[in-house]
Amino acid sequence: MKITLIYGDGIGYEVIRATEEIIDAVTDKIEWEIMEAGAEITDKYNTPLPEETLESIRRNKIALKGPTATPVGQGFRSVNVEIRKKLDLYANLRPLKSYEGVETLYKDIDLVIVRENTEGLYIGEEEMIDHETAVSKKIITKNASERIVDFAFKYAEKNNRKKVTAAHKANIMKFSDGLFLEASNMVAEKYPEKEYDSKIIDAMCMELVMKPHNFDVVVAPNFYGDILSDLCSGLVGGLGYAPGANIGDECAVFEAVHGTAPDIAGKGVANPASAILSGCMMLEYIGMYEEAGEIISALKEVFANSKQMYGKNGMLNTNKFKEEIIKKIKKIA
Ligand code: ATP
Ligand code: MG
Repeated sequence: MKITLIYGDGIGYEVIRATEEIIDAVTDKIEWEIMEAGAEITDKYNTPLPEETLESIRRNKIALKGPTATPVGQGFRSVNVEIRKKLDLYANLRPLKSYEGVETLYKDIDLVIVRENTEGLYIGEEEMIDHETAVSKKIITKNASERIVDFAFKYAEKNNRKKVTAAHKANIMKFSDGLFLEASNMVAEKYPEKEYDSKIIDAMCMELVMKPHNFDVVVAPNFYGDILSDLCSGLVGGLGYAPGANIGDECAVFEAVHGTAPDIAGKGVANPASAILSGCMMLEYIGMYEEAGEIISALKEVFANSKQMYGKNGMLNTNKFKEEIIKKIKKIA
């Protein structure tokens, strides 16, 4: 089957290329359709998100994507936000899991952030009303809130998760977050067999850091979901271990939580684990559970011995990491 592949900017080529090679090592059923997006191609296409790239995703329904930057000051909207909006990828699914061999504050972390992906503070409506005053609009709708909370509960059902916790700040944003909370409470009633609670976002952050095992599935409006994802990636070893998927009713785009990491781009030290795990989420999504499982077992073995993968400077060697995984898959070492 055909799948759209976008390397993107910064560390994108390094981590996605590694993922592509690893997936090719477990299956020959995938034909990659390589398309472009991001800041680096903007001059060539006059846009960071060419229409043919969107068309390819619409046609193939599935894409694996590296991080993309958006050129600053040229009036373009964020590539990520555009893709999510144009394809109505309303659910951003981000499972965070700790692995043996990866240094973390806590053992056995296993939680999932479900982030609303189409509205909130990400609608890009900001203005200066005078030289000293800026306004940012945040839109919360009943429909999008119900849809994302329902997605979270369905995910919990399908994946045998016990509990859903909704994040909000309805004590301060009475209308917007109030609406999200009300929608959450209402949807939760449809799933009496699942535990449900809601927490104020600031208190939730403290609890996540102190008692992360209290959480299972967390559902949040766009902006809180963004921050919670990075916070929780810190619980499992950092952004290099946090995979993700943007899911809609028609299409799904799989991409790691991290961005372009310009500070380490091109140095061969980016951790491809989050991209590889995103690739595994993709394989599972298209029903290739066995292949995903093969990669995950290899990944676990490599994590367990991952000290060898780090050079003198303590940085991971992207290529060596990839090669070790492929060796494990092919049972060479
Ligand atoms: P963007 O604006 O595209 O999000 P950013 O500067 O915020 O770029 P991120 O990719 O979000 O960068 O990551 C923040 C920092 O975390 C990076 O600067 C990098 O040091 C580290 N980091 C992110 N991803 C990885 C990775 N895959 N492997 C190793 N370090 C990473
Ligand atoms: Mg970032």
